Amino acid sequence: MSVRNENTTVVIVGSGVAGLALGNFLLRSGVGCVILERRSREYVEQRQRAGVIDTRAARMFREWGLEERILGGMPFEPTMNFRIDGRTRPYRFLADDNGDGRFCPQQVLVRNLIDTFVSDGGDLRFEAEDVSLENLRGPRPLVRYQDATGTTGTTGTTGTTRTIACDVVAGCDGDRGVSRAAIPEGHLTRYSHEYGYAWLTVLAEVPASHQSMMAIHSRGFAGQFARGPRASRFYLQCPLDDTTQQWSDERIWDEVETRFGEPVTARGPISSKQLVPLRSVVYDPMSYGHLYLLGDAAHIVPPMSAKGMNLALHDADVLAKAVLRQVKDDDPTLLREYSATCLRHVWNYQAFAAWFTDLIHDSGDTSNRGEFQQRIARAEFERLYASTTASRLFSEFLTGLN
Ligand SMILES: Cc1cc2nc3c(=O)[nH]c(=O)nc-3n(C[C@H](O)[C@H](O)[C@H](O)COP(=O)(O)OP(=O)(O)OC[C@H]3O[C@@H](n4cnc5c(N)ncnc54)[C@H](O)[C@@H]3O)c2cc1C
Repeated sequence: MSVRNENTTVVIVGSGVAGLALGNFLLRSGVGCVILERRSREYVEQRQRAGVIDTRAARMFREWGLEERILGGMPFEPTMNFRIDGRTRPYRFLADDNGDGRFCPQQVLVRNLIDTFVSDGGDLRFEAEDVSLENLRGPRPLVRYQDATGTTGTTGTTGTTRTIACDVVAGCDGDRGVSRAAIPEGHLTRYSHEYGYAWLTVLAEVPASHQSMMAIHSRGFAGQFARGPRASRFYLQCPLDDTTQQWSDERIWDEVETRFGEPVTARGPISSKQLVPLRSVVYDPMSYGHLYLLGDAAHIVPPMSAKGMNLALHDADVLAKAVLRQVKDDDPTLLREYSATCLRHVWNYQAFAAWFTDLIHDSGDTSNRGEFQQRIARAEFERLYASTTASRLFSEFLTGLN
């Protein structure tokens, strides 16, 4: 087994939306960076998750000159549909500026980010195993990993241990990655809130009846979102201790129809089922020495708010600008402020995510927080239609103008 030693400015651990956006911003700015990803390219490009890019994120890509290559052709729909008491209640975003948000399946965003990074000559290494971080508080951190298959853009050797010395490590490896785990105990404070229920998330190979539809029902929330012309994503609120084995395809389709109060377009094959407990988590601070945490490695928002991917993109924007200031002007101010800058935005979105998650779930199922809370939630829901002020504030948060 051979050992190769290398040098760069930034090592990015993880090629999700945070890592890939950061890599693209740095590459365009001429800052040396290497992205290390544990999984294969095929796996990463097919992983299905989020689907909404908010206005702030879309404008950020524009500012970096990447809007057309990353988001070109993605549709925007200024309406969201609710299904409540057997009726469809369209909700039209009410803001002075309708924004630039888009429907963009996360795997399409990831694919576009990878294509752009690789075709511009970026160094992205898939199947990088056993990544470990050393010397995070020393003058230059060291990132060590096993190169299983070689690299994209350079020739690699199977079974090589590589070390990369760098100035900055960007921990973009999600909630279960190695970056946050490399921070000594006691440095981070974890703030968390459990909502008390989970979502069964289902990907079906059938066209969606609606671009987006959310059902408020006494049996629990149900959501339906188009994921391209031939696929749709369904969400069903369920108890925390449910297992995917309890949810046969037939039971899923029955439950979707019951909660929406209408038949689905077609009962097609279901390609994935996953249970996601709804929780909000924030780690503070989002840095340790030369390591900076981004995206899910630093915070989790409940998927109801569609903000997880957008927060990850915001962190990438803030860190890229901070690294640039350091590299070009030898000024560490923005790096020092990175955590505080991101956390202000994170808590703002967490507040919206918690409010919206409670509103929609409490309006339907009373088993979690009772009938009094249901009446409160219904009153707040109606206010979105009755009050211009409430509607404008809601729209600004949802579309990412706030
Ligand atoms: C089922 C589901 C549905 C969701 N729905 C929505 C939604 O509708 N709207 C929304 O905004 N958000 C949604 N989210 C959240 C959103 O997908 C995440 O917030 C977003 O992916 C965070 O991006 P990230 O780059 O921080 O992390 P990730 O996208 O998780 O990327 C982390 C990357 O790091 C890699 N990695 C992990 N460990 C290592 C390691 N040791 N070494 C190297 N690489 C490593 C992983 O393979 C992965 O590629 C959903 C999440 C899930 C799971």
